[in-house]
Amino acid sequence: MPTCLFCKTNNEEQFSKEEHIVPESLGNTAYVLPKGIVCDKCNAYFSKLENYFCHNHLASAHKLISRHKTKKGKPPFLPLQAGEMRQDKTGKINFKQSLIQGMEHEQFTITFFEEDVAIRMVWPLPDTDSKKISRFLAKAGIETLSLKMNAFAFEKKFDFVRNYARFGSKKVFIPFLWSNQPRESIDLFIGTFESRNKGKFFFGTLFLPHIVYLIPLNRAHDVYMLNIIRDSLKFAGNSLNLCADECFIKREPIELMAHFSKDVGREQNKKNGAPKNKRAGTF
Ligand SMILES: [Zn+2]
Repeated sequence: MPTCLFCKTNNEEQFSKEEHIVPESLGNTAYVLPKGIVCDKCNAYFSKLENYFCHNHLASAHKLISRHKTKKGKPPFLPLQAGEMRQDKTGKINFKQSLIQGMEHEQFTITFFEEDVAIRMVWPLPDTDSKKISRFLAKAGIETLSLKMNAFAFEKKFDFVRNYARFGSKKVFIPFLWSNQPRESIDLFIGTFESRNKGKFFFGTLFLPHIVYLIPLNRAHDVYMLNIIRDSLKFAGNSLNLCADECFIKREPIELMAHFSKDVGREQNKKNGAPKNKRAGTF
């Protein structure tokens, strides 16, 4: 009889779906829990959290540039502070930005070439809610534990993190570590640290494109242990950052180069070799 990894229901009719540990739209096809592990209710509950994570986690801008498709095969989009960037079917990135709100934050550098105008644009991104990121990481960490160690994931010592992911709590915040790193692939691991007095400390390690996250799976309040991990691990020479409180994290603005054709919609001129299909405002 199946038992849900999060709410522990064992109503057999409630298990009709697989569970993606990391959303498909971030490029994950390999790390999937089969039917019978996460119930449909929990699966549906997590979809909002996953959606937030996809668009707002600390390296989410990368997916727009790397051209991953969303779950339904649509091109990705990225919310901006007062607008959005979206890829069209041909792979070009278009942007919409409110002209009233947020203009004071935008920076433009304009360079003139013989034929075209190239503009380097720096777009601000909305701040990231660390609590939502932490709860998503808790979910993904517990699921990774289930994928790698099966029934061990049901042990009581993981209940605190399990319940935090599924039910949340206004007063609780589980800290996490993160660092930028250059890898493109998605890899999920369970790490352990052992101390003589306190025993094993388990944490989920999520490598996503251009970022790695570490989240405790037991002893979630042991910031001392997290500091030891922070001080002893480096990823591609980068130190880990500790997010220990519920807060909004500022994200680096996204930087893109845009080319604007002088004569929009003009046919290709063979003599000067102007490229075909150039449209204003495309990247
Ligand atoms: Zn459930």
